Amino acid sequence: MDNNTNNENKPVQHNKRRTYILIVVAVVLILLLVPTIIVACNYYNNHKDDKANSSSSMLSSEISDDISAVTSTDMQPAELSSDPLAAVEGSSQDGALSEVQSSQKTSSQQNSGYEITAEITANVTNPIGEYVSAEESQQLQLVNLFNVLPADFDPEITTLNGGKEFASIAADALDEMIDACNAECGDGKLWAQSTYRSYTKQVKLYNDEVNKWKNKGMSDSEAKAKAATVVAVPGTSEHNTGLACDFNTITESFADTKMYDWLIEHCAEYGFIERFPRDKQDITGITWEPWHYRYVGVEVAQTIMQNGWCLEEYHYYNNL
Ligand SMILES: [Zn+2]
Repeated sequence: MDNNTNNENKPVQHNKRRTYILIVVAVVLILLLVPTIIVACNYYNNHKDDKANSSSSMLSSEISDDISAVTSTDMQPAELSSDPLAAVEGSSQDGALSEVQSSQKTSSQQNSGYEITAEITANVTNPIGEYVSAEESQQLQLVNLFNVLPADFDPEITTLNGGKEFASIAADALDEMIDACNAECGDGKLWAQSTYRSYTKQVKLYNDEVNKWKNKGMSDSEAKAKAATVVAVPGTSEHNTGLACDFNTITESFADTKMYDWLIEHCAEYGFIERFPRDKQDITGITWEPWHYRYVGVEVAQTIMQNGWCLEEYHYYNNL
C-alpha cells in the first residue's frame, strides 16, 4: 500500500514543483522587466524633451536670423541712438519687442558713421539732372546738384517785412526769427540779404554767366562748367524753393557775430537749420556757409540741429 501511495503521490509532487518553478521564473521576469520598462520610459521622455528643445532652438535661431536680416538692411537708421527713434524704442515694455529692439541696437552699434557717410556720398555721385523729390512735402524738399527742381517749380511766395520774397509757408517764421534775433543780440542787425530766386531768374543769371565766358573765348561746354562754379545751375539752388535765406554780408565773418551764435542756438525753434555746416562738406558738396539758413519746419529742424545733421542725412535716416 505504501508503495502504491508513494507512486500515486509522485505526479502531484511533480506538478507542485513545476508550479513553484513557474512562479519563481515569473517573479524573476517581472523583476527584470519592471526596471527595463522604467529605464525605457525615462529614455523615451528624455529623448522627447531633446527633440522639443532642438526644434525650439531651431525656431529661435530662425527668428534671430530674420531679425538680423531686417536689422542689417532696413533698420540701419536705428543707429541714431540720440534720435527720435530712441523714444519709440523706449516706449514699449513688451518682452518680444524688447528682444528685437536690443538686437537692433547691438547690430546697429556695429555700424559706423563713416559707412553711412560713405553711402550718402556715393548716392550724390548719381548723374546730374535726376529729379527725385516730387513726392516730398515742400518744406522737406531736398535740392542740390543731384536733386534738381523741375523747370515749372513755382512755389507760393509772400513778401517779407523787409521787402524780400519768401515761400508763403515760411515767411512769418523768418520775420519772427529775424525780430527775435535783433531783440536779443546787441552787436548788429540781422537782415535777409538773398532769399527767393525764381527758376526763371536763375536761368537768366546762369545764361548771363555762360555768355560772359563764351565772349571771352571759351567753348560752350567750358563756359557752362566755369559758370556753374559761380552761379548755381537752374533748379539746383535752394533759393529757387523760396525756403532759403542768406543773411547779412554772405561771408564767413558772419560766424564771428553774436547773431550767428544766436541762430545756431535758436533757429530750430523757428523751423530753420544751418544748411551747410562746416563739418558736412563731404555730404552736402558745399563748403561751409554760416550765412545760409533753410526752412524745414520746427520738428524736423530740431531733430537736425540736435543731432548735428545736414538735410541730406535727415533724408537718408528717414528713408525719404
Ligand atoms: Zn544761400
